[in-house]
Amino acid sequence: MQHFKLRYLINRCTSCALSNHRTNAVPGEGDKDANLMVIAEAPGAKEDEAGKPFQGAAGKRLDKVFEEVGIRREDVFITNLLKCRPPDNRNPFPSEIEKCSGYLWKQIELIKPYIIVTMGKYSSNFLLQIKEPMGKMRGSIYQICVDGYEPFVIPIYHPAATLYDRKKWDTFKEDWNLVKNMLV
Ligand code: URA
Repeated sequence: MQHFKLRYLINRCTSCALSNHRTNAVPGEGDKDANLMVIAEAPGAKEDEAGKPFQGAAGKRLDKVFEEVGIRREDVFITNLLKCRPPDNRNPFPSEIEKCSGYLWKQIELIKPYIIVTMGKYSSNFLLQIKEPMGKMRGSIYQICVDGYEPFVIPIYHPAATLYDRKKWDTFKEDWNLVKNMLV
């Protein structure tokens, strides 16, 4: 399946009730041949409005860390575990993750990134198929197997978690530095 076909399907998806409330689905954006793919949790209000990931405060945080470590946002493919916004930004339900995750696996198969950064507990737990808190998962490099291809997975704090926590911001930056060094 091609990228444009996948976007088409995501934009018209009605597999779960989140589709009833959305302004736009948020399939993801960036380089379709990226070495680096970022997977976060779900769109928020600004993303739902724009149809693009990381437009709000967390997006500014992500842009800031990219600038500090020297990663260009346009070189990365950025998406979320859920493609539609949960009401009041509540946590994703397992049933929503299950219904939406087929799109994510397809995106991974198409892009075949060398590194996948999962930001936050939900996408990290999902991709690694483990149930651990972020503090336990971050700091390690994992490898998963997707149909015989083996990308690295690096779990990192969600940028929203670093907004009012200086220590988490420092850790977040340290982890992104490691990703940057793996890419060169
Ligand atoms: N938070 C997320 O997890 N994803 C976005 O796209 C924006 C905020």
